[in-house]
Amino acid sequence: MSDLADLTIDEAGAGLRTGNFTATDLLDAALRRAAVTEAHLHAYLTIDHDGARAAAATADRSLAAGDDERPLLGIPVALKDNMVTRGVVTTASSQILAGWNPPYDGTAVARLREGGAVIVGKTNLDEFAMGSSTENSAYGPTRNPWDTDTVPGGSSGGSAAAVAVGSAFGGYGSDTGGSVRQPASLTGTVGVKPTYGLVSRYGLIAFASSLDQIGPLARTVADAATLLEGVAGWDRLDATSYHGDLPDISGSLEAGVEGLRIGVVSELTGEGIDPEVLSATRVVVDRLSDAGAVISEVSLPSTEYALSAYYLIAPAEASANLARFDGVRYGLRVDGETTEEMMAKTRADGFGPEVTRRILLGTYALSAGYYDAFYGQAQRVRTLVRQDFATAYERVDVLVSPTSPTTAFEIGAKVSDPLAMYYSDVCTIPSNLSGDPAMSVPVALDEGGLPIGFQVMAPALGEELMFRVAAEVERAAEFTVRARLATSEVDA
Ligand code: GLN
Repeated sequence: MSDLADLTIDEAGAGLRTGNFTATDLLDAALRRAAVTEAHLHAYLTIDHDGARAAAATADRSLAAGDDERPLLGIPVALKDNMVTRGVVTTASSQILAGWNPPYDGTAVARLREGGAVIVGKTNLDEFAMGSSTENSAYGPTRNPWDTDTVPGGSSGGSAAAVAVGSAFGGYGSDTGGSVRQPASLTGTVGVKPTYGLVSRYGLIAFASSLDQIGPLARTVADAATLLEGVAGWDRLDATSYHGDLPDISGSLEAGVEGLRIGVVSELTGEGIDPEVLSATRVVVDRLSDAGAVISEVSLPSTEYALSAYYLIAPAEASANLARFDGVRYGLRVDGETTEEMMAKTRADGFGPEVTRRILLGTYALSAGYYDAFYGQAQRVRTLVRQDFATAYERVDVLVSPTSPTTAFEIGAKVSDPLAMYYSDVCTIPSNLSGDPAMSVPVALDEGGLPIGFQVMAPALGEELMFRVAAEVERAAEFTVRARLATSEVDA
């Protein structure tokens, strides 16, 4: 484990500044790791060798000149391929965007470049981020490094797998219903969905705009904080971005939980959750209690309907957002006799089955005559979910639950059963509907040796508190095992 690719971002940053190694060395270590693991995992759709080398060389010049201000300077990171990158093909794992070379950077991407981060490449996802396993990619699935017969979760499965094995020091994904936290849970990494509006969505290919948030994947809670700080903040290009004082994300990581009130969500710690996941959750809760937290059971009664509401709201927004992919402006075009026929053929060929299903569902939910019964009803449920959280936060400081009802499942196990797949996000979706922040921390392995994640949720802009509790969870769980593929095959 003396390989540079196993360092945390904090350790890597310290080594860069003492001159123990260079940014180019770090990049080489990540690329060597990718060379060994990619044939097994397929975490990346594109590795930008030239761009990454140039960024590492620039970082080395800044470091040599004494640049000490930018925590991500010289750190190799992986970006989900729905984050628009200037000059680097961006597909959202869809055929409809095959070969699309964007003329601009999204805001998060631009901030990473300004921060001196080294973008290794673009990672695999479920097409347009619709899925929970990364099997819905038009370019083939990503596999879970802990057991390559299983999925890494999704939709940010590529970034999660890359971070888990060290082919990137940190990664970014997007979380609309759980797509950062659930893959974090399934790959033994830390994953964060920030407060809605904390990170600009400009240049994130839109799935469901009222729910989408970019968030980091990392190997430690401290790394996740550094990665989030690298992209958070107001952006005039995103009208929904938060314009105010930012939470001090990494300010209280060592503060502990003495006297904090932690609520265990009863609806997310009972039926439908794998018994091994539940018992790992209870062990962590007991340790938080030992560390001085005041634990209580809290009910969020409307979460029972959250999943159903999400699968109306998210497809409804997606059906509108995806209207722009019509063969005129970007990517694929399949010719036809008329413009209309060209558009119809392009969309029929360009979208995969899950995306097509979502567009149909969403269009139906919004159609005249059904709008109020489906979309309107779902929005009312969303309001109730928000009220449940608000009521809960009058009694407790943070809420906790498992992140995912199960550990990683076998590739193919749920592809023909969309409802079973949708259920993967039962614990994560409520925080997307409320807009509040939530994150997953790895805490244990199940009997099959697969990671289990623990979710910490906080009120809007409560990132400081959330990270403070997450850091205690990390210490309490003492989960230090790394993905097997990384240790066995690379050390060999
Ligand atoms: N799995 C959920 C879905 O398919 C969430 C996806 C996401 O967060 N992007 O919609």
